[in-house]
Amino acid sequence: MITFYPGPSRVYDKVPKYVKEAFDEGILSINHRSPEFMSLLEHTNQLVKKKLNVPDDYQILYLSSATECWQVIAQSYDGLSYHFYNGAFGKKWFENTKKIKPLTIGYHYDMNKVLNISELDLSGKDGLICLTQNETSNGTCISNKRIAKIRKEYTDHIIAVDATSSLGGAKLNIENADIWYASVQKCFGLPAGMSVMICSPKALSRRNESNKYYNSLNNIVDNASKSQTTHTPNVLNLYLLNKVLSSTKNVAKISQTLQERMKAYLEFFDSRVELKPLIANPKVRSETVLVLQGNPEMITKLKEEAREEGIILGNGYGEYKNGTFRIANFPAIKNKEVQALIEFLDKSIN
Ligand SMILES: *Cc1c(COP(=O)(O)O)cnc(C)c1O
Repeated sequence: MITFYPGPSRVYDKVPKYVKEAFDEGILSINHRSPEFMSLLEHTNQLVKKKLNVPDDYQILYLSSATECWQVIAQSYDGLSYHFYNGAFGKKWFENTKKIKPLTIGYHYDMNKVLNISELDLSGKDGLICLTQNETSNGTCISNKRIAKIRKEYTDHIIAVDATSSLGGAKLNIENADIWYASVQKCFGLPAGMSVMICSPKALSRRNESNKYYNSLNNIVDNASKSQTTHTPNVLNLYLLNKVLSSTKNVAKISQTLQERMKAYLEFFDSRVELKPLIANPKVRSETVLVLQGNPEMITKLKEEAREEGIILGNGYGEYKNGTFRIANFPAIKNKEVQALIEFLDKSIN
């Protein structure tokens, strides 16, 4: 089976080999306060920085999911939080934060339009600007250029970015925002159960002093400064991330490959009238998740036929559950698998 589901998604073929190595090397039983663990964590931090082009003064943190990142950010910053969203994940982040901080402000924008945050008056002179860089539910993204513009206009705010389905696949200019996070079951090609959060010095200095929760940012950062974690972490996933990053190219190169594949998909669908990208505006279309819309019965049939041929297409999400399906364009998927999918679509769609 080849899965094109955008999370959990295809894992790298080498994962079973790495798991075996972790077992053989005794990694699965190491103490998380031991020097062995600390050096694994430090080495992984270096790899994340190198392969994702993270500025040197940013701090890498490991949490258990993107959802936990929502929670940690909400409880660790006292100012207002402004959420800009056009789809289900951005909305969930907003609603999650609102439960913790009732004054949280949400702004819904059109998914086919470029985000223009000046449409909302950010009355607070600082606070958090929360963006979903890659909206996995509808296949939109916010460009580096747009985030750079926001950075320039709102210098005192903390910019927090959900890049769960793009970090590790799309080339992102990390220096343009303060907090980035992603869970590893999307572009990193790993099993679920860990997330990576990347914080600027400004993001770290503005955190509140609370240590009320085990996952208060304060506690997480204190432990990270000793190359440790607040609790017994997912050491296996940390090891797997280390191995995968050791063997993959820089994200700039990976992103080029993904862009070429996306071009091939779009050219193919351009010649078909039955299925069209949900997002018509190329300026806001994601590089890593493609959402196609069409007749619901036809899509159901297509997904069934695909399954019979060993291809799993991603279901539509939320309000687009019926009229769309999704194709992950993630790094662990091979060129020949993309080819196989296009060939399948070519013979199945008239
Ligand atoms: C998948 C996803 C999440 C949730 O990730 P978890 O690891 O399940 O917490 C959050 N935001 C976006 C954009 C996602 O794609």
